[in-house]
Amino acid sequence: RAMAEREVAHEAARTQDDVLIEVCANVADPEDARLAHEAGADGIGLMRSEFLFMARQQAPDQETQREIYQQALDSMGAHSVIIRTLDIGADKQLDYLSLPRVPNPALGTRGVRLMARHQALLDVQLRALLSVRPLDRLRIMVPMVTEAAELVAVRERIEVLAGEMNLEGRPELGAMIEVPAAALCADRIARVADFLSIGTNDLTQYTLAMDREDPDLAGRADVLHPAVLRLIDLTVKGASGHRCPVGVCGAAAGDPQAWAALVALGVDELSVEPARVAAVKAGIRQLDRAALARRLREWLDEAIDSATLRQRLEQWLNDQ
Ligand code: PEP
Ligand code: MG
Repeated sequence: RAMAEREVAHEAARTQDDVLIEVCANVADPEDARLAHEAGADGIGLMRSEFLFMARQQAPDQETQREIYQQALDSMGAHSVIIRTLDIGADKQLDYLSLPRVPNPALGTRGVRLMARHQALLDVQLRALLSVRPLDRLRIMVPMVTEAAELVAVRERIEVLAGEMNLEGRPELGAMIEVPAAALCADRIARVADFLSIGTNDLTQYTLAMDREDPDLAGRADVLHPAVLRLIDLTVKGASGHRCPVGVCGAAAGDPQAWAALVALGVDELSVEPARVAAVKAGIRQLDRAALARRLREWLDEAIDSATLRQRLEQWLNDQ
């Protein structure tokens, strides 16, 4: 079966009721992007650029970054590539930035908050990104957005730099929805974004106040908690009024049961580990999206817990 799945992995995946779901891949570097393309990914849904900045004495210069971003685009044929701006702070540190030690780094100056303070670092990265070709296959994504103004500030910076570089085109610009505030205000963020991508790892951590790294909480920090699902639902609804596509790039997108709940809630794209692309596409082809959406509403009305919901989803997927 795995072989049959791989053979059709390069074709677009539509549900039984004919909803196209893009299945993209999460990557750390161009080598991963090559694997993602081989695996049949419809694009890169998240390139975590911070890996380029780690294990180094200093930040990579513009040309070093440009080469790596260009390689990622070159690996993906005609597909588009979402590159996330540096998401440092919290669990990922850089020695050369000498960030102050704070008691709660996950709630501190991380992601876009940090980049707003280190404008020079952000400028080098944005210039490197704006140097890749073709620009219409590049999408820039901003992590840890809490309010629309943060995204607007990055867009304004892109405008200035693109002007200096005499560029005609602009890459699309999107926001990660991984803070509950962003999910609650997704309608406002969607107004100024070209796309949204839900980071379920952090969204789950921040919604449930459960450290994603804490092994004692690993069994309970479940994306299928009704509170997290409500925030995802709100995000999809908030974005739909602005015709802003919504993806998911957290681990839930490739989770054997949770991906189906995400599709039922109306997301347009799932970004998963390259090795999961074929299996997730195969699952989508079996799925009656509208039917699962109806069942999911019933289950959520019954007020079952996340473990029970997981069992029901598993049963549903097996019975199809
Ligand atoms: C997330 O938070 O879900 C996410 C995709 O980003 P990261 O895991 O890199 O924090
Ligand atoms: Mg995150």
